[in-house]
Amino acid sequence: MKIIMLGAPGAGKGTQADKIAQKYSIPHISTGDIFRKNIKEGTALGKEAKQYMDEGKLVPDELTVRILLDRVASDDCSRGYILDGFPRTIPQAEALEKKLGELDDDIDFAINVDVPDENIVNRMSGRRACPKCGATYHIKHIPPKKEGICDECGAELIIRDDDKPETVKNRLKVYHEQTQPLIEYYDKKKILRTVDGTKDAEDVFRAIADILE
Ligand code: ADP
Ligand code: ADP
Ligand code: ZN
Repeated sequence: MKIIMLGAPGAGKGTQADKIAQKYSIPHISTGDIFRKNIKEGTALGKEAKQYMDEGKLVPDELTVRILLDRVASDDCSRGYILDGFPRTIPQAEALEKKLGELDDDIDFAINVDVPDENIVNRMSGRRACPKCGATYHIKHIPPKKEGICDECGAELIIRDDDKPETVKNRLKVYHEQTQPLIEYYDKKKILRTVDGTKDAEDVFRAIADILE
């Protein structure tokens, strides 16, 4: 099973992707997580990506596509995967489609987690992330069992650099300009499914599980 998660920054793509990954035992691949890991490790890729991420801009397609296609070629992806945060532009979607086409393969579903802009800034200001394992929490809606500590791995939670309100506004603008057109792109391919992302995370997951059944 190959699934793409679509939605604005903060819509809950990562939260849902984690649940799907657990249920179906397939890897959850987040390009944002890959970039953040590289920034932490101080690699050349990390240095390049950071310049864009700090401003809420997209990392260039060429670089992003290369990283992603490399990742999905690994052994653990042979039974499928969930892409969270990729594709974010039409050229990225086309590059993925071309690669899968060469393998006589295709994406099964593009799940659009729909959340209006008004809710996004609130979601982002309460987001806390685990720098070690990538798990995500919300101080009000999805708090960790122990304040400030990751349930999964015990690391101390952080506020992401790019979750500041000014940067979030920029990211939303970029989303509407460059990523939203993918909704129509996948609708035309008949694999788009939209869920109401304003509901509780458990309800959103039930809606997604129904689609995937
Ligand atoms: P969010 O959880 O808000 O959707 P991500 O963690 O997916 O954010 O991405 C954080 C940042 O990483 C983006 O703002 C962008 O700069 C960069 N990024 C992640 N995925 C991509 C992509 N597919 N194309 C270009 N840039 C990306
Ligand atoms: P994305 O990957 O789309 O950027 P996240 O999964 O990181 O989004 O979620 C953004 C923030 O909203 C996080 O703090 C997360 O804990 C919280 N969140 C996710 N889903 C819900 C939900 N259904 N209701 C309320 N808060 C949520
Ligand atoms: Zn963790």
